[in-house]
Amino acid sequence: MKAYRAALLRFDDAQRPVYDADGLLVVGPDANGQRVVRAAGDHAALIGNYPGVGVEDLRGKLIAPGFIDMHVHYPQTDVIGAPAAGLLPWLENYTFPHESRFHEPLHAREVAAFFLDELARNGVTTALTFATSHPASVDAMFEAARARGLRFITGKVLQDRHSPDGVRDDTERSLIDTEALIRRWHGVDRLGYAITPRFAPTSTPAQLRGAGELAAKYSDVWIQSHVAENLDEVRWAAELFPEARSYLGVYDDFGLLRKRAVYAHCIHLDEADRQLMAATGTTAAVSPTSNQFLGSGFFDYLAADEAGMGYGLASDVGGGTSFSPFRTMLAAYCVGREGQTKTGLSLTPGQLWWQHTAGAARALGLEGVVGNLQPGCEADFVVLDPQATPLLARKTSQANSLDELLFSLIVLGDDRVVVRCVVSGG
Ligand SMILES: [Zn+2]
Repeated sequence: MKAYRAALLRFDDAQRPVYDADGLLVVGPDANGQRVVRAAGDHAALIGNYPGVGVEDLRGKLIAPGFIDMHVHYPQTDVIGAPAAGLLPWLENYTFPHESRFHEPLHAREVAAFFLDELARNGVTTALTFATSHPASVDAMFEAARARGLRFITGKVLQDRHSPDGVRDDTERSLIDTEALIRRWHGVDRLGYAITPRFAPTSTPAQLRGAGELAAKYSDVWIQSHVAENLDEVRWAAELFPEARSYLGVYDDFGLLRKRAVYAHCIHLDEADRQLMAATGTTAAVSPTSNQFLGSGFFDYLAADEAGMGYGLASDVGGGTSFSPFRTMLAAYCVGREGQTKTGLSLTPGQLWWQHTAGAARALGLEGVVGNLQPGCEADFVVLDPQATPLLARKTSQANSLDELLFSLIVLGDDRVVVRCVVSGG
């Protein structure tokens, strides 16, 4: 066992932040040897229970749950910041040419390693990431994530039409490859597989049907895709699937809405769509920097809450503009505030942080496993420096409440705040 003394942030079951200014985090192995949180709380109240346990003194720092990125594309690491006139030209001119290189294992391994380094630098300990349509891209990422002991989810992209040579796959082969990858990787150490149709317009009905059959056969694997990101895309989906009630309805028709199904964006949904998300346990990966960058629209938090649908935050790199959860939380705040296309509201700092940690874990079906520092959670956490920059030090020294402390970090923080990123207790 090992313990850390620092300020400590975690979340209760009502999604509220719990804070100890002088906290203690105790980690140790569970029955399976996985290092988990054994205790978390006030230092003075807990320390007597752990005589002889080494305590690392990190006073002045803040320990918080490792961040969870609910939607990101590791093969788009080099696409970040690409100029384009909207989503569809961006795919054609930047994304597909970059992704076509991932049939080469050496290239896939090099990008996977850089990507995981970047996640760690930014305090992200779990991600649900797209690979590319090439099985080699999935093997490369799982090998890299396994070597680092990460709880990590990825999958081979399915896209058998409306895609250029080099990324388009074959319907039957793509489904055989997907099942082989599930059997090879799902449940190995902390790894999980996600069935990954790119989005409805780039899959034939046959491919979507096959994906739905695999989703039924392997009920604890994840499903990840995109839905209702921008209006051109929504119109295109309606032309291709005229029988579907809506764009989201396409996925429903093929059995692709269920628990552990995660759809990026979810902007241009209607009330029936949101009810369907809630009823099926399907969740949204809210991607605010991407949506602002590509001008796609604004996620409607109030409508999502009223429908009872689950959601969490995502960088969506390369459409997104930063790997930093701080940038994503700030963008989510701005998206929430937007009040011209929907009702604007002010998300509290605790709500923003929850969406990128415990809330994201809940939306992934990993509540109580990652994204929090309550006893029993896997010991993935970050050590943050509230004085990382002169302005941040000035602001946080004046904080009179937890809200003020967290919001200073959200607005002013970035990778400089993350002094350590701990996976599995170190
Ligand atoms: Zn995406």
